[in-house]
Amino acid sequence: MWRVAAVRVLRHGGAGAGARRAASGAAVAQLRRRLESELEDIRGAGTWKSERVIASRQGPHLRLAGGGAGIINFCANNYLGLSSHPEVIRAAVEALEKFGAGLSSVRFICGTQSIHKDLEEKIARFHQREDAILYASCFDANAGIFEALLTPEDAVLSDELNHASIIDGIRLCKANKYRYKHMDMQDLEAKLKEAQKHRLRLVATDGAFSMDGDIAPLREICQLAQKYDALVFIDECHATGFLGPSGRGSDELLGVMDKVTIINSTLGKALGGAAGGYTTGPKPLIDLLRQRSRPYLFSNSLPPAVVGCASKALDLLMESNAIAQSMAAKTQRFRSKMKAAGFTISGKDHPICPVMLGDARLASVMAEDMLDRGIYVIGFSYPVVPKGKARIRVQISAVHSDEDIDRCVEAFSEVGRKHGAL
Ligand code: PLP
Repeated sequence: MWRVAAVRVLRHGGAGAGARRAASGAAVAQLRRRLESELEDIRGAGTWKSERVIASRQGPHLRLAGGGAGIINFCANNYLGLSSHPEVIRAAVEALEKFGAGLSSVRFICGTQSIHKDLEEKIARFHQREDAILYASCFDANAGIFEALLTPEDAVLSDELNHASIIDGIRLCKANKYRYKHMDMQDLEAKLKEAQKHRLRLVATDGAFSMDGDIAPLREICQLAQKYDALVFIDECHATGFLGPSGRGSDELLGVMDKVTIINSTLGKALGGAAGGYTTGPKPLIDLLRQRSRPYLFSNSLPPAVVGCASKALDLLMESNAIAQSMAAKTQRFRSKMKAAGFTISGKDHPICPVMLGDARLASVMAEDMLDRGIYVIGFSYPVVPKGKARIRVQISAVHSDEDIDRCVEAFSEVGRKHGAL
């Protein structure tokens, strides 16, 4: 008898399965209602992020899907213009052909090729550190380092405006957590004093902050770290490749290369823009990360084409810093012309040039009007930046021409006058 019933259940699902389906149907309907209401809240709050579709390569001039050709792009992290550099693309194609599409494996099982080792060696040499380890992204590098390095006996002191990935990485670790006010050295010192009771102290900061284009006061941070026997970690995503006399980053710019212990950075911005991230620093730390860092241990190896891009980008930078210098000159041109036009630009000397407007709606309508004039920029408002500090973030690239920069300034002046921002 039970056999007949079992066969019926297997063939038809049985009454229980029907009930389960109905129950799960109700759960899905409930989930949908909840998600739709959450999405409505986001729209209502004016913080909905929509994505424009690009129908061309990344570069200073774009074609947007559904029209919009010849748009001048001022909102990519393509600081050195290497994302579509012919030699970078050729290196990717060669790596793809020689080493295949991917490893179908994590590094420690069957996923390390000679190009991964070569790139790690090149990154360490570029930053003048002992060793380096690759990740699928800098988000992963930040997610993996704090948990692997710090225990409940230790402390981490983090700038309140650090990137989300540093914040998440710190959340994952069991160290004692201190948050100091943005670039406030008095507050950092107070927190360092408080943290003396712990075994090890790690100060963690972005080298350059992406919303404000400001550069962390690394000289002062390193002095305090020395005084209170702490280590310094910097995230160099918005510095690697172009800050400092030879583009090594904010530690080179501020003369503290020998005082910063750990650097995390990305291959997905100035260094070719494909993807990938890394940690570079003392060899035992890198060895430990290979053993313990979860995003490294449990995620696929970087694809060869991506490795090829980054490797070529580093070669180009190590041969000459002409590209970085060209970007610096263009940044200077934009910042000085915009200031002369009457705008307030936050930060100093960084290719992230936030045009400060204050009002969220103003930032949003001005960005739309800029696009109508062929200039692609993005407005940022709360909660991405503090309330009342809405802005349009302009990012300069080495491959913008002087004419591109001047057209952008002209468009800002027109749109700014139209909306009463000047
Ligand atoms: N850290 C900072 C400061 C960033 O701006 C970003 C990217 O926006 C990341 C980390 C993450 O980098 P990736 O895109 O390589 O994950």
